[in-house]
Amino acid sequence: MSLLVVGTVAFDNIETPFGRADMVVGGAATYIALAASYYTRNIKIVSVIGDDFPEADLDDLRSRGVDMAGLQVKQGEKSFFWAGRYHDDMNGRDTLDTQLNVLADFDPVLPADYQNAEFVMLGNLTPAVQMRVLDQLKQKPKLIALDTMNFWMDTAMDELKEVIKRIDILTINDEEARQLSGEHSLVKAAAAIHQMGPRILIIKKGEHGALLFYENEVFFAPALPLAEVFDPTGAGDTFAGGLMGYLASTNDISFENLKRAVVYGSAMASFCVEKFSTERLKELNDDMITERMLRFVQLVNFDAKLNT
Ligand code: AMP
Repeated sequence: MSLLVVGTVAFDNIETPFGRADMVVGGAATYIALAASYYTRNIKIVSVIGDDFPEADLDDLRSRGVDMAGLQVKQGEKSFFWAGRYHDDMNGRDTLDTQLNVLADFDPVLPADYQNAEFVMLGNLTPAVQMRVLDQLKQKPKLIALDTMNFWMDTAMDELKEVIKRIDILTINDEEARQLSGEHSLVKAAAAIHQMGPRILIIKKGEHGALLFYENEVFFAPALPLAEVFDPTGAGDTFAGGLMGYLASTNDISFENLKRAVVYGSAMASFCVEKFSTERLKELNDDMITERMLRFVQLVNFDAKLNT
């Protein structure tokens, strides 16, 4: 099944208690496509960059089977730029700077062979752009997922709510779920968000794992306890990429398979945080992913002796 990926392709400045990295490659679509490329080679990117983006990184994505026909390159302009600083707990972070640059007037155009995508991952970017992409699809996809963040809730809440009406899965973090729903309890937030449109909600809780709310059911996937976290940037996007890559490759959107997909997403995110930027995501192989999945199984597997 083909996976259409929309999102930023960007430069980031990242500060953590352990160091900093300037002008490294980032962006939601970059992380999503890299993570998904371990599950499917049928990925199509829609995004925009300036003429400042390294060709080697684009070639690397192409070599992983990522179709870049929907990537616009704006001559004489700069790529999206984001700067963030992580707190000492490595969970919280402050955005120091967001420069939309080429994203400010981005009008996505879907090439003809993108318009029948079965799986769609609307990664974090302008809600109006996410909507424009949905409007160009020729047939209803099997599954549409959307990721967003507080920046868009602060600046474009109405447009965001419009696009959320049209999706199947929303992936956001706990603070964003509270902001979107106005509810503090995540269970109440999930119920309120279901009413907004998506029948599936995934709330990411950083090092505390992720909750999957599927109609009336709930599933919890832990994050892997890691001795060293270098850079959490992109972990949420990587999670979404692993999740959607796995779902597209299995073509099964049952609750049971969604549970597996959430753990595959968590496994990919656990790699992402081990090095700065996209470095770690580029050096994986199937054996490493299988070994990591085994650690997740061992982490939650126990034999309850219940007298029922
Ligand atoms: P994550 O850590 O998964 O939330 O994603 C971090 C990535 O999102 C970084 O590589 C940034 O380039 C990108 N990013 C940050 N802010 C935004 C934004 N407002 N819209 C789209 N992408 C963003």
